[in-house]
Amino acid sequence: MTNLVWFRNDLRLADNPALHAAAAAGDVILLYILDERAGGASRWWLHHSLSALGAEIAARGGQLVLRRGDATEIITGLVKAHKVAAVHVARAYEPAWREADRALDAALKRLDCGLHRHLSTSLFHPERITTKAGGMYGVYTPFSKACQEAGVPETLLPVPSALRGPKIESEDLADWGLLPTRPDWAGGMRAEWTPGEAGAKARLEAFLAGPVQDYATARDIPGRHGTSKLSPHAHFGEISPRYVWHRARAAGAGEGVETFLKELLWREFSINLLWQHPDLRRAPIRKEFKDFPWETNRDRLTAWQTGKTGIPIVDAGMRELWITGWMHNRVRMICASYLVKHLLIPWQAGEAWFWDTLCEADEAANGASWQWVAGCGADAAPYFRVFNPVLQGQKFDGDGAYVRRFLPALKRLPDKYIHAPWEAPPEILAACGVRLGSNYPQPLVKPAEGRDKALAAYARLKGEDPA
Ligand code: FAD
Repeated sequence: MTNLVWFRNDLRLADNPALHAAAAAGDVILLYILDERAGGASRWWLHHSLSALGAEIAARGGQLVLRRGDATEIITGLVKAHKVAAVHVARAYEPAWREADRALDAALKRLDCGLHRHLSTSLFHPERITTKAGGMYGVYTPFSKACQEAGVPETLLPVPSALRGPKIESEDLADWGLLPTRPDWAGGMRAEWTPGEAGAKARLEAFLAGPVQDYATARDIPGRHGTSKLSPHAHFGEISPRYVWHRARAAGAGEGVETFLKELLWREFSINLLWQHPDLRRAPIRKEFKDFPWETNRDRLTAWQTGKTGIPIVDAGMRELWITGWMHNRVRMICASYLVKHLLIPWQAGEAWFWDTLCEADEAANGASWQWVAGCGADAAPYFRVFNPVLQGQKFDGDGAYVRRFLPALKRLPDKYIHAPWEAPPEILAACGVRLGSNYPQPLVKPAEGRDKALAAYARLKGEDPA
């Protein structure tokens, strides 16, 4: 009997329920269909992840079949040609894949072939975590408690020892053009990451071997390597969320591990929100924010995107993102807040930029986080709580290690001025080689001015007189 596995964001062999079920039944066709929605940095990651997965499959006697096009057409074609008994897939919560599953299910039924969707990319089926009254959660804390009470299943599935199946025509990964060429902007990403299942496990083990101990406090310090950096591996499903959960639990007790597990539940919460709000990337959950008086300003958006706002912590973050395809979480919050509050640019414009530049751009986490920062999401930070980027920088990057790493022009400034160079006396700027407006920008909008503008806009939304 031949079964088909349609890989999506579950690009791994270990603890992969779809693969396990299909391989246990006999021969397998292992298929990946190009996800055309991926942004630039994600496409770089995808190339390398597929390459790693293909090699692991080949080492077990199998073949990763690559195709582009409509999933229903491709899969029903293979089902008919190879008398496939059942199709196995990881359950996905992105609206495009939910729609694809509905179409595929209907088409397969006509062929008398089953579609089996497995819990694989999240810890729980979203509909499993409900309030006592049976409703869905909109607030993280009770949601996370309900998850803890439900308990993460402990069974972890082994890697199938052999993967055999019919030889099938496949497209060539190199022909998909997922890697940048002119220019090749991926040097910083190559230096930072090892996409694929082995890279994911190595990243987790390195984190659990040390940094997890201080994670509860170090996770907020962007100048330190205090977080797991697992997010791209988790997004592409190169490591199973259940495995991460149980491996972290087994690594020991303590505040670090507990805080880390809570972050994994933030991921789960985002997935749950996407399931409840399929339009999470575009439409505010709190509907009144539809009428927010945003200001569209192309030049300011470009300055933010390219790290030229004149606010060091924001510019350093945007450059980290551009160079490595990732940005520290604390800095993401500061950069996002500066865009939507100080510059009053719609959060969807920031979401779209992150979508293209994050190697782990994720419909659930990115959409939910942008809405959280903009104050229009579930359980969001209230809009009127405006981050002051200078104070944030001083608090979390007091010695300026992070800013200095990504903004060499400011490297020699004393700690006192590193987060607000415009406050430095001219002789200090001159002695440190900083020429504001020349080798580093003047601030587009200073913190106090931005805060006033943000609060006035919020007052207008609520129909109050901002004066
Ligand atoms: P760790 O601190 O080691 O956390 C462990 C894991 O928990 C992460 O790998 C991630 O899977 C999960 N996690 C942690 N924080 C969050 C969170 N707030 N929401 C959801 N999951 C979380 N995360 C993405 O995976 N993809 C995105 O596209 C994305 N966009 C974001 C946009 C904004 C504006 C903000 C503020 C946050 C965004 N996040 C996103 C969440 C978070 O910043 C990253 O998951 C985290 O920084 C990844 O680094 P890490 O793996 O070292 O995290």
